[in-house]
Amino acid sequence: MRFYSSLSRVRGLNYPAKILLVTFLGIHLPLISVVAVALVFSLADWGTVLLILAVLLAATLIGTACTLLVLYDLLAPILAASRALRDYRQSGRLPVLPLDFDDEAGTLMRDTDSTIRELDELVRKLTDLDAESGLPNRNRLRQLIDDQLAARKRIAVVCLLVQNRSEIDYFFDVPTGRELLAAFVERLRDEPSVLEVGRVAPGIIKFSMPLQERSDLEDALSALSERLSRPLTSGDYAFYPRLLLGVARPPEDGARADALMSAAMTATKNAEPDAESNVLFYSAESQRSARRLFEMDQEIRTAIETGQFELHYQPIVEFDRRRVVSAEALIRWRHPERGLIPPNSFIPLAEGAGLIIPLGQWILETACRQAAEMGRSLVETPRLSINMSARQFSDPDLLSTLDRAVEAAGIAHDALKFEITETVVVTDLKQARRTIAALKERGIAVVLDDFGAEHSNLRYIANIDFDEMKIDRQFVSHIDADSRLKAICTSILTLAEGLGVPVVAEGVERREELDTLHRLGCRQFQGYLFSRPIPAGQFPDAVRTLVTEIADPGFAMAPSR
Ligand code: C2E
Ligand code: MG
Ligand code: MG
Repeated sequence: MRFYSSLSRVRGLNYPAKILLVTFLGIHLPLISVVAVALVFSLADWGTVLLILAVLLAATLIGTACTLLVLYDLLAPILAASRALRDYRQSGRLPVLPLDFDDEAGTLMRDTDSTIRELDELVRKLTDLDAESGLPNRNRLRQLIDDQLAARKRIAVVCLLVQNRSEIDYFFDVPTGRELLAAFVERLRDEPSVLEVGRVAPGIIKFSMPLQERSDLEDALSALSERLSRPLTSGDYAFYPRLLLGVARPPEDGARADALMSAAMTATKNAEPDAESNVLFYSAESQRSARRLFEMDQEIRTAIETGQFELHYQPIVEFDRRRVVSAEALIRWRHPERGLIPPNSFIPLAEGAGLIIPLGQWILETACRQAAEMGRSLVETPRLSINMSARQFSDPDLLSTLDRAVEAAGIAHDALKFEITETVVVTDLKQARRTIAALKERGIAVVLDDFGAEHSNLRYIANIDFDEMKIDRQFVSHIDADSRLKAICTSILTLAEGLGVPVVAEGVERREELDTLHRLGCRQFQGYLFSRPIPAGQFPDAVRTLVTEIADPGFAMAPSR
């Protein structure tokens, strides 16, 4: 490369020109030599010399011109390969190179072409595709939908939420989880009405489909959802996708992909848990409530700082011994404008926003402090039962927060119980088991809350070591008049007996419910029949009154309260 490197330093000429110049000089070397010899030896017959020179010059010039032309053409593959690389780097344009030559120059063009295309594919995968599903990612999908809209295609945008996606992580190993996801994606892609599909987050897929009248769209999506909800199997296990579909339509819900995609997402956020249809259309109202949720998120942060939360306590009664054995701590938000807000309106939101950690810490500290206060004014202090959300339960700092709160309040760990639901276990079984073991080591009882209301998978029961079970209110309410509820409660009580754990029936409102459950073998009760949740300050007095009331054999016999 020595000659090349000296030549490359010559300015003012490009590479082909330099090659042509070198060639020109090379070809004219014989001619130049003849002139030099004639000059040096002063040949006599200048006429002949000039004639020879003229002929030589003419012949060489014609030969050179032809050589240079051909040479320039021979250089074309190198120049084309170089241009292709520069074009790709500068504007991402893919090369258009001839690929049907197989000498060195042809190989250079082919290699350049395939290298650029492979590189482009790789870059596209990295920037446009979701690694887990192989579907376009959020950005790519946005472009694809915008392209459809620009081409004046009439489309609706759908957000498909797989609500129980975490079950895949719980029940299946990683490769099987991937397989199930791939099968689900394939099923979706096979749907003729599904146009562009992309995965924007785990459990969230968005796609476009032809726009139709609202009722037709709803029917089409219900049918599609039914087909997609069919079980996906792996070995002996099956995954039943639980789907929610949010729909956004242009132009009302947005003109561009961005607006439509987020409107479709907003629509899914406003699903009522017991709504009849799982197809939800975006509306200005759903946007307003999404906005309200956002504002509430901000407000929760302020409310923690300004002390707007309070704990109320609901007694749990062991009816045979007419005692209040424990009390469930239930959080309330005393909002300066909206009054007392129940937990179901903000706990899920706090959980989603990660605010449950500071809020949970406040709950623990407050419950411990109030347990100490109750201990000073009640002869028999009920154990305080604290609700734990999944996120809170998997917080690595939970135990240290707990230990600090218990120590600061000067109470024993066994003054507390923790209520967890099956969601806690589904979220991370291993971690849940570790935390449960650590709690039990400290003497904290673990209560399985809302039994029967969620997954009700006996694998959870087999996998976690809990001390008590609570039957959800939906199985308790009007149990006296419903033989199916009786059958369910009987089996829960039998199961609990087999496991050797006591059962609390939640939401007992009527004496008839109490009597029926008592006959079935339930011994502990919680509900409005005994008491509503009470602010901490009034709790000791309320417990004393309640204990006197239930000591009366005619308690709540008639009329039922
Ligand atoms: P949960 O743990 O199942 O609590 C029982 C719910 O049933 C409470 O609702 C209670 O007020 C209500 N209840 C009790 N007896 C009756 C009755 O006889 N009739 C009726 N209709 N309802 C009754 P609340 O206080 O609205 O709490 C709802 C849920 O919010 C709780 O369900 C719990 O999951 C969650 N929650 C409450 N406080 C906390 C907390 O401090 N932390 C966390 N993470 N979650 C909480
Ligand atoms: Mg509870
Ligand atoms: Mg409950």
